[in-house]
Amino acid sequence: MPGEGGHSSREGGVKSKSAARGPGILYLVATPIGNLDDISLRAVETLRAVNLIAAEDTRHATPLLAHHGIGTPLVALHEHNENRASDRLLDRLLAGASVAVISDAGTPLISDPGLPLVRKARERGVRAVPIPGACAAIAALSASGLAVDRFAFEGFPPRTTAQRRRLFEELRHDRRTLIFYESSHRVRATVQDLASVFESTRRVVIARELTKVFETIVEVRLADADRLFADPNMLKGEFVLLIEGAPERSAQDGLTPAEEHMLKVLLTECSVKTASSLAAKISDGRRETFYRRALEIAKQTD
Ligand code: SAM
Repeated sequence: MPGEGGHSSREGGVKSKSAARGPGILYLVATPIGNLDDISLRAVETLRAVNLIAAEDTRHATPLLAHHGIGTPLVALHEHNENRASDRLLDRLLAGASVAVISDAGTPLISDPGLPLVRKARERGVRAVPIPGACAAIAALSASGLAVDRFAFEGFPPRTTAQRRRLFEELRHDRRTLIFYESSHRVRATVQDLASVFESTRRVVIARELTKVFETIVEVRLADADRLFADPNMLKGEFVLLIEGAPERSAQDGLTPAEEHMLKVLLTECSVKTASSLAAKISDGRRETFYRRALEIAKQTD
């Protein structure tokens, strides 16, 4: 293995702990999301070889590191000390130390700390090297059966019902599979809010406790989703929620109740042509669909 601050002998190799020359490397190391064996050989090698591991919670990291025989010194890097800790870590990197960032689970920075450090490091010419591995969103998506060609990761939805519904309204016409993280405290309320905003026929996949003993991946229509929580076990653990994307509209498709209402309101003020054009723009739908329906409504009210 090359000296610290030197160049690795092979692409993706890990810098060792001695002879500082030039900046070190910042490694972003994915750790398991449940099953302790879901960690790559390269991740273990990296965590053993670096000078310092910056962990979201050092107590949480200890069993994982012990399980894999990793004795590297740990420092804390969490949302409450992120700016100051990042500056200290950057100093170490600039002095030639190699640093690995890990979070409590999965890929660091994905709904987890680390972004300020990566930004600062890159600005100062320090290489940021990903060591890929588990990520709950991707694991859930891969097993969901929902479309994977286009998806949007939305992280944790807001905490209040009003804010959540506002966000869901914004996303209602998105054609991509939508992925959310959620905690056991809010999962039921969030699913209820999804059901109140999205069409009741939209498919939702609830992925719970991935890679753990009680792993559950269920698909239901939104209209039926709340019933799942009648089972108290469904309210325990960690969750990924995936919603199928909005269907592509065709000229034959009907309008949703909300679109129908909007069109009727517009028709009280504007011509058929203007009302259907405005409605299509507002709801990101097809003008012909609104135009056809606007003609019908206009005829009925003549
Ligand atoms: N960095 C992590 C990743 O790469 O997935 C995510 C960290 S975020 C703070 C924690 C959230 O991820 C949980 O609240 C849950 O929504 C999701 N999550 C993490 N592990 C999970 C698991 N084993 N099963 C289902 N969801 C999980």
